[in-house]
Amino acid sequence: MNFYIDVIIPLAINNTFTYAISQEEYDLLQPGMRVAVPFGKSKIYTGIVAKIHQQHPEIYTPKFIETILDQSPIVSKLQLAFWEWISSYYLCSLGEVMRAALPGIFLLESETVIQRNNQHDTIELANQLSDEQFLVLEALEKQSQLKIKEVGQLLGKKNVLPILQEMAQKKYILLEQEIFEQYKPKLIKYIRLSESYENPQAMNAMLEELGRAHKQKEIVMQFFTLKAQSNKPISRKKLKEKAQASDASLNALVDKGFLEEYTLQIDRVKNQNQIAQQLIDLSAEQQAALNQIEANFKASKPVLFHGITSSGKTEVYMKLIDKQVKKGKQVLFLVPEIALTTQLIKRLEAYFGQEVMVYHSKYSQQERFETYLHIYNQTKGKIIVGTRSALLLPFQDLGLILVDESHENSFKQLNPAPRYQARDAAVVLSHLCKASIVLGTATPSIESYYNAQRDKYALVSLKKRYGQVIPPEIHLINLKEKYKRNQMKGHFSDVLIEAIEQTILAGKQVILFQNRRGYSPTLECHTCGHSPHCPNCDVSLTFHKHNNSLRCHYCGYHIAMQKACMACGSSEVSTKGFGTEQIETELNTLLPKARVARMDLDTTRGKNAYDKILDKFEQHSIDILVGTQMLTKGLDFRNVDLVGVMNADNLLNFPDFRAHERSFQMLVQVAGRAGRTAKQGKVLIQTFNPHHQILQQVTTNSYEDMFKEQVYERKNFKYPPFYRLIKITCKQRDYNAVEEASLWLSEALRQGLRDNVLGPEFPAVARVRNEYRKNIIVKIPMNYSVKKTKDFILKVKKSYESIGKFRKVKLTIDVDPV
Ligand code: ADP
Ligand code: ZN
Ligand code: ZN
Repeated sequence: MNFYIDVIIPLAINNTFTYAISQEEYDLLQPGMRVAVPFGKSKIYTGIVAKIHQQHPEIYTPKFIETILDQSPIVSKLQLAFWEWISSYYLCSLGEVMRAALPGIFLLESETVIQRNNQHDTIELANQLSDEQFLVLEALEKQSQLKIKEVGQLLGKKNVLPILQEMAQKKYILLEQEIFEQYKPKLIKYIRLSESYENPQAMNAMLEELGRAHKQKEIVMQFFTLKAQSNKPISRKKLKEKAQASDASLNALVDKGFLEEYTLQIDRVKNQNQIAQQLIDLSAEQQAALNQIEANFKASKPVLFHGITSSGKTEVYMKLIDKQVKKGKQVLFLVPEIALTTQLIKRLEAYFGQEVMVYHSKYSQQERFETYLHIYNQTKGKIIVGTRSALLLPFQDLGLILVDESHENSFKQLNPAPRYQARDAAVVLSHLCKASIVLGTATPSIESYYNAQRDKYALVSLKKRYGQVIPPEIHLINLKEKYKRNQMKGHFSDVLIEAIEQTILAGKQVILFQNRRGYSPTLECHTCGHSPHCPNCDVSLTFHKHNNSLRCHYCGYHIAMQKACMACGSSEVSTKGFGTEQIETELNTLLPKARVARMDLDTTRGKNAYDKILDKFEQHSIDILVGTQMLTKGLDFRNVDLVGVMNADNLLNFPDFRAHERSFQMLVQVAGRAGRTAKQGKVLIQTFNPHHQILQQVTTNSYEDMFKEQVYERKNFKYPPFYRLIKITCKQRDYNAVEEASLWLSEALRQGLRDNVLGPEFPAVARVRNEYRKNIIVKIPMNYSVKKTKDFILKVKKSYESIGKFRKVKLTIDVDPV
């Protein structure tokens, strides 16, 4: 009798490979377990068992597996089914889905590089290590890195994955991904009182004992002051600053055993001794929405929850989550970006405490690994807040998925494959898990709203802000007129600058939105018309004033700012367009007393930079916050009375069929930051086109009008939701190779799909990092079989890949591109 398994290998190749196994292995193995398998000439990979069977493959003689790596599955049947769906819908291999879904520590392979973890001392570990493990660590002392293949040679055996697996899990060694990890969890040192001093008499006793050590006494006093102020952990740095103390004095106190030092990872810092808050009572409207949502859950319908900004969607989510947690079910809360979600996480933690787990792609391998296992084994919190990749976690008993700000683009994965839209994939996952799902937003995507109209989703609306709060009044300011009448100061109209002044005078805050960072996007020579471009990409360089440089926003290339034209030497150069930095500079001259800060990619690079700016703004040590679209995302500030949009036109004029929808979403979202308390807020939008229909719809908050008009245009011009799009891209450094390959592809596709194939065409930026790219768009009408079209595309791809000269041209397929 012969026994076989089909194995998923984490590569962009055919779906599964068949391997032979022995009878004992057959009795032991289950789908979802890991096996080490030989692949290619001499490589070994970690694969996942997809299927166990007895059919001999037709075209090849299967090799035997090397070994079994697990005692029980680490991937559930349900996950495997979900992977299958992603792979077939998004036209990628199962292996690519596997690679995205599993933490690197699970995926050792012969090419993986390992390194010693210097936190451990080999001698100390000696009696916990097996002989082989000891040998490996010893070798790593002489040589800083080893490939797993080399470990095989060292130990004189082929398969060393199980040994190294254990070592990686116990953190004796670090894997390649960890060695080069960009994100190093930042450890902060904190100070706390030693347990024996935790009583009211403690301070006096301590001070007495300290006698004449004044410096140390001061530290102790400041410690108690800080502790009285809040029950947040007290960092070493803060204490030192407060007490103006030296490291030596602080260390002395630690040495004497009065104080203790401990470390916490920044994003794991939580308020200690947190008292669970009560859930808020819902208003009548909110309660009605909640009831409607739950009624639709019973009918197993996905719910599109359309609630205007500040209507209390989050409060409704909390109630929904609460019910699931009480039933012992897991909840997945998907958000566009973790960094922008601090406020939400705080609210969740205030009520659900330890039940809340946060997950995002910047986590270290070790953290991803731990979280994965916690969720698989249900050993920690039930509520997982995460970005799109959290969708691939191994949920066991999922009761509810919430997709907040579901219109956001960042739910779509762009690179590498699988290029999934987490919002849509979440709906599929909810079906598989029999979980409920809510897509929440103040500005639904056209696709979602269309689904609701066709009854695929249920629509639940919340059209009133919570409490007595009235939505802000929105005014358009005609820039054409303002320039003509000389009523501009820099990029500010008189109306806007006056409104800012008044708002600050009234003790309120201002948000200013400009969708470009840097100082000005282009530099132009008046003599010859030249403007400096990036040598690697087809874009012009942006002037950044604070470091006097010209920078490429695509690849990071930069040079010093040029005083004279680089082409003709003329000194008649001027800047065109403006970014957030210029707005900040202008404000400093126009309103020298105002405290201005900027929030864009340039000012939020450090891990906590974003939170710092927000904290400052919340504590009102900033009057005006200038920023890019980062500002539009779900921030809840009590004290903002005025929102200004510097220029709405560059949003509207973007060459993309979604530009109008996006402009509407962005403007409504940024407007929603104004007047979140009793007083009505104000929004001023500067534009050269005050009669643009989108701007009119924004002023009157007419989502339905916008929807109707956009749907009409989408239908006319054959775009989603009436046609499905698949984007196929060829990429290569060699221009001619891209031309030739994309032409061949488009012709081959046309043979089957005729005029539903568009292109090849260069995108707006044809070259990025010296790579040329050309796109082909396939439009699938609704009455076509999606399955057949996709199969045809895969067939063409296969013939394409068999042509030698095209091999160097990289081909990517993006289903439902955004
Ligand atoms: P959204 O998520 O729709 O933008 P939020 O849930 O953030 O709205 O609500 C806006 C503000 O109103 C929040 O500060 C929230 O705490 C408050 N709020 C909403 N509903 C209630 C309620 N029923 N009782 C008290 N405060 C509420
Ligand atoms: Zn010139
Ligand atoms: Zn560049």
